[in-house]
Amino acid sequence: MTRRRSSAMFFDPTGARYGIPTWPWRMAPPHLLTVRQLAARGLRPGGQPVVAQVLWRSRRYNAPGGIRAAYLYDERLALPKRVPTDRQRAALGKALAARRVCPDCRRDAGYVLPRHLGVCLDCATEVEVTAA
Ligand SMILES: [Zn+2]
Repeated sequence: MTRRRSSAMFFDPTGARYGIPTWPWRMAPPHLLTVRQLAARGLRPGGQPVVAQVLWRSRRYNAPGGIRAAYLYDERLALPKRVPTDRQRAALGKALAARRVCPDCRRDAGYVLPRHLGVCLDCATEVEVTAA
């Protein structure tokens, strides 16, 4: 099989054959990038689904039929990568720890307190019993 035939087989910009728009290796539109390519530009997919793929034949991997796929995202829908600083990480850890401490008995409940109770389960049970 020649390289040209293989390329034609993977040329499906409408997704009629493969379900999503598909191009041969190196022929996808420039605004469609893999996660790794997005990351290299300081971007992340940002919740968007895979919008397209590139397919190519490879003898190096045991992919089904010797065909490999790379999934592509639209750079125009991508968002900046958020890298938390050490300070933000520490603040987040503290916030989570604070949400485990019961304001009534002042113990670390060992779990994040249920928001609708606002206290640990032991204290919540006592309140309910008292109220009944
Ligand atoms: Zn408590």
